[in-house]
Amino acid sequence: MIEFRQVSKQYGSRGDSAGGSAALSEVSLSIETGELVYLSGPSGAGKSTLLKMIAAMERPSSGTISVNGQDIGRLGASGIPYLRRKLGLMFQPADLLNDRSVLANVMLPLLVTGASRADADKRARAALARVGLEDKAPAAPLALSGGEQQRVAIARAIVNRPQIILADEPTANLDRGTADKVMDALRAFHEAGVTCLIATHDESILQGARRVIRLEKGRVVSGAELSIGTGLA
Ligand code: ADP
Ligand code: ADP
Repeated sequence: MIEFRQVSKQYGSRGDSAGGSAALSEVSLSIETGELVYLSGPSGAGKSTLLKMIAAMERPSSGTISVNGQDIGRLGASGIPYLRRKLGLMFQPADLLNDRSVLANVMLPLLVTGASRADADKRARAALARVGLEDKAPAAPLALSGGEQQRVAIARAIVNRPQIILADEPTANLDRGTADKVMDALRAFHEAGVTCLIATHDESILQGARRVIRLEKGRVVSGAELSIGTGLA
């Protein structure tokens, strides 16, 4: 599970310069293993910052964050790759490498963690199949639609079999039908047991959501606690 305790983040603060505005202020929340949780709030509310801190891409100015019981503030340089192997990251924009094929993009996370080419090829194709794009393996990313590129980004995020998927506005700039396909692909991983934390301000996605953590000006205004008795009849 993921736990934040009194986490604050101030960008570029030197020492204890009080008064600067904080990207996050005293955020406490917990997310259980296997949950699908949405993070909402206006632009600038701190959603990206919160996601980046789970991946140790940004460090808290104060407070503690733990992922599966491990305090990630205490991770040394060798602990970060270990943490990231548990995570599937989808940050904006899809940042696919345009000088190589779709398949090569999805193989990349496997190759950097030492998989053989043959194994990476097989697993990358399986991940592309999971998002319905097996036939696009040899294509150039720029030849795909926006929604297809986002699904390639999902395949790349899940190819390492992560325990947790962190997605920042995965449906940004997509039309409704395309956005639905991207969300269906993410929900399928949730149904397979993967914990998913998805930042979005897409109201039509949030309407059907079981749990939404709402941020405003760096503070959690609702949804920090796991709601009890939600719909499990
Ligand atoms: P959201 O994802 O909800 O739009 P962000 O986490 O991107 O919010 O931003 C929260 C606040 O932190 C904003 O005021 C933003 O300007 C600021 N911020 C984000 N990233 C940086 C950065 N790298 N340096 C300085 N300020 C930043
Ligand atoms: P294989 O056994 O050949 O890897 P699978 O059908 O089990 O085929 O998985 C296909 C791909 O789907 C995997 O390579 C992996 O990227 C992804 N995958 C499967 N299960 C999970 C899971 N629980 N969490 C995340 N990704 C998964």
